[in-house]
Amino acid sequence: MARTALRIINFHGIGEPERPLEPGEAPYWLSVARFKEMLDRIADHPERDSLAITFDDSNTSDLAIAAPLLAKRGLTAQFFVLTGRIGEAGSLDRAGINALVDMGMPIGSHGIAHRDWSSLPPAELDEELKASKSTLEDVCGFEITDASIPFGRYNAAVLSRLRSAGYRAAYSSDKGSADLTSFLRARTSVRSDTTGIALNDALSGNMPAMIRLRRAARMQLKQWV
Ligand SMILES: [Zn+2]
Repeated sequence: MARTALRIINFHGIGEPERPLEPGEAPYWLSVARFKEMLDRIADHPERDSLAITFDDSNTSDLAIAAPLLAKRGLTAQFFVLTGRIGEAGSLDRAGINALVDMGMPIGSHGIAHRDWSSLPPAELDEELKASKSTLEDVCGFEITDASIPFGRYNAAVLSRLRSAGYRAAYSSDKGSADLTSFLRARTSVRSDTTGIALNDALSGNMPAMIRLRRAARMQLKQWV
């Protein structure tokens, strides 16, 4: 029977950034050593089949550092691309995205310009969702069905516009387990200050009570879309 729940661990940049970072972004970058340690925990986890890995922001470290380390451990990950940064210094170019595809890594959209979708006027939100999808379809040569939400910030309108733009799944940063039968899928983003205990909790699906309550409130949005 196909699994319907996954714990998804979300990474960002690995190693030294090759572009200026956005405000608040630095804690999301991991050293190579820390990344390897986290990947080993995932690869060796007793419930490895219930775990999944994603990457946001399409940094060059996705291909240069993460992909080979994933492959070495027999792991795959889904990579969410910012199409406005394709080919810019520090970000994946078209060839880099296709190299990930050739390694069997699924690709999704993270929008164009890393904006907070929940604060955009409808026309600008639609542009982020639709143009990034079609650019990636042109780069990859297949349909792009998944999106990850910048900063994990969404509301009912964001989810509704994602559906209208043709996406079939949206990845948040709500922590806990992702229900694969649902459009909105929770992930846990790890940071350089994520403790071993917090990572273990994320891998085993344990959620601290406060986060569970906050998430339950946010998941109410699902009834609107
Ligand atoms: Zn991002």
